[in-house]
Amino acid sequence: MSPQRILVVGAGHVGLYAALRLSRKLRARQAEVTVVDPQPHMTYQPFLPEAAAGNISPRHSVVPLRRELKRCKIVSGAVTRIEHSRKTATVQPIIGPPLEIEYDQIIVAPGSVSRTLPIPGLRENGIGFKTIGEAIYLRNHVLDRLDVAAATTDPETRRRALTFAFVGGGYAGIEALAEMEDMARDALKYYPELSVGDMRWVLVEATQRVLPEVDRDMGAYTVQQLLNRGLDIRLDTRLESCVDGVVKLSDGDSFASDTIVWTAGVKPSPMLDDTDLPRDDKRRISCLPTLQVVDGDKVVEGAWSAGDCAAVPDLTGPPGTFCSPSAQHAVRQAARMADNIRAVIRGKEPVPYKHKHAGSVASLGLHKGVAQVYGIKLKGPIAWFMHRTYHVSRIPSFNRKVRVVIDWTLAFFLKREVVALGQLHDPREEFTEVTPRVG
Ligand SMILES: Cc1cc2nc3c(=O)[nH]c(=O)nc-3n(C[C@H](O)[C@H](O)[C@H](O)COP(=O)(O)OP(=O)(O)OC[C@H]3O[C@@H](n4cnc5c(N)ncnc54)[C@H](O)[C@@H]3O)c2cc1C
Repeated sequence: MSPQRILVVGAGHVGLYAALRLSRKLRARQAEVTVVDPQPHMTYQPFLPEAAAGNISPRHSVVPLRRELKRCKIVSGAVTRIEHSRKTATVQPIIGPPLEIEYDQIIVAPGSVSRTLPIPGLRENGIGFKTIGEAIYLRNHVLDRLDVAAATTDPETRRRALTFAFVGGGYAGIEALAEMEDMARDALKYYPELSVGDMRWVLVEATQRVLPEVDRDMGAYTVQQLLNRGLDIRLDTRLESCVDGVVKLSDGDSFASDTIVWTAGVKPSPMLDDTDLPRDDKRRISCLPTLQVVDGDKVVEGAWSAGDCAAVPDLTGPPGTFCSPSAQHAVRQAARMADNIRAVIRGKEPVPYKHKHAGSVASLGLHKGVAQVYGIKLKGPIAWFMHRTYHVSRIPSFNRKVRVVIDWTLAFFLKREVVALGQLHDPREEFTEVTPRVG
C-alpha cells in the first residue's frame, strides 16, 4: 500500500501539533505529511503580549517549522483553494506560479483573522494584534511615540503621541494593553521630559465587562486594577470612527491618537471562501466531535478541521454549543485529530474530542495577573506566575522553553530592553536616500 498523503493547511497551534504527532506516530511508508504555511514558523500567540512588552525575544515566541517538523515536507506559501471533490489544493508559493497538491487526507487549520467592522478610518489608522509582525511593530511604535513626545515642543503633538487606544476587552486586548502600558511606564524612567501622568491609555469595550472567559467578579477585578494604574476604561462604548487618527466614541468623547489597536475578536480565515467544504452560519468549517468535516449528517471522507476556523461541538456544554476559539482547545484538538487520522488509516473508529475548558490565565504586566482555572480564582503575582508557568509548559519544543525562561531570567536581573528599533520597519530608507537615481 502506498503511503497516505496528508496535507496540513496552516502550521499554527492545530497544524504544527497535528503534523508533529502524525510524523512521530506514523512511519514514512504509512504516511507523507506536507505542511503549507506562508510563514516559516508557528506563532505562539499567547506570548505576543510579552514579546511586545520586551520580556521575551520575538524570535523565541515563534517555533521554526523546518527545525521542529523534520519528518514533514514544508511548503512556504498560502493555500488559496481547496477542491475536496478532486482532493486537490492550490498553493501560491512566496514567488512563482501556483502549484497543485493532491492528497488523501487534509487538515484544514488556517485559523482566524481579526474581525473588523466598516468603521471610518479604521483601515487606514488601525492595527491588529494577532501576528508577531504586529506585536513587534507595536512595541517599536509605542517606544517611538515616547521619543516623539519627549522631543517635541508642540503640546498637541505630545498629547497625541502619548494617547494609546485599544478596542476590545477579551484576553488578547487586555493583555496587550496591560503589558504595553507596563512597558511604557518602565521606559519613562529614562525620559526625564515625560511623566506617567502625561500618558493616556484608553480601553474601548462594547459590552459591560472585560475578559468574558472568566467570571464577572474576575473581570471586575481586572477593570479595577487597570483603573488603579490610571488607565481610562470605557465599557459599554463603541469606536464610531478614527479618521486621521481622531478617535470618536459612542459616549460622545473624542481625542487624537497615533495608536489605535483593534483586538475586538476574530473570524475564520477568509481563505475558506474558496473551498467546497461545508460551513456553518459563522463561516466556520462544520465538524463532528471526532474533528471530521461533516456535511449535514454525512462525514466528508478525508477532510479534518479544528481550531479557530472550525465549529467543533463542545460535548461538555449544553447541546448546540461549540468549543471556543482558544489555544487550549486547538492544541488538544490537534492531538485528538492526529490520533483519529491514524485510527482511520488503520481501519479503526475515530474517538470524539471532549475537553472541559479549564479556564483562563492572563498577564496584566510584570508581577500582575488574573487567573481562573478549574474554578480556582487567583489574582496578582500568583496569577501572573501561573500564567508564565502554564504557557512555558505549552509552547512547543524544549528548545523554545529554555530560551523563554532565559529571556525572563535576563530581564529579571538586567531589566527589560526599552529601546525602539523602528528602523526595522523601513530599513532601506537611508540607503535609498544616499544612492543616486539613474536615468
Ligand atoms: C494576543 C493573543 C493572545 C492569546 N492568548 C491566548 C491564551 O492565553 N489562551 C488561549 O487558550 N488562547 C489564546 N489565544 C488564542 C489562540 O492563540 C488561538 O485560539 C489559536 O492560535 C488557534 O489556533 P489555530 O491553529 O486555529 O490558528 P493559528 O494558531 O492562528 O494558526 C493558523 C496558521 O495558519 C496559517 N495560515 C493562514 N492562512 C493560510 C493559508 N491560506 N494557507 C496556509 N496557511 C495559512 C497562519 O500563518 C498560521 O500559521 C490568543 C490569541 C492572541 C491573538
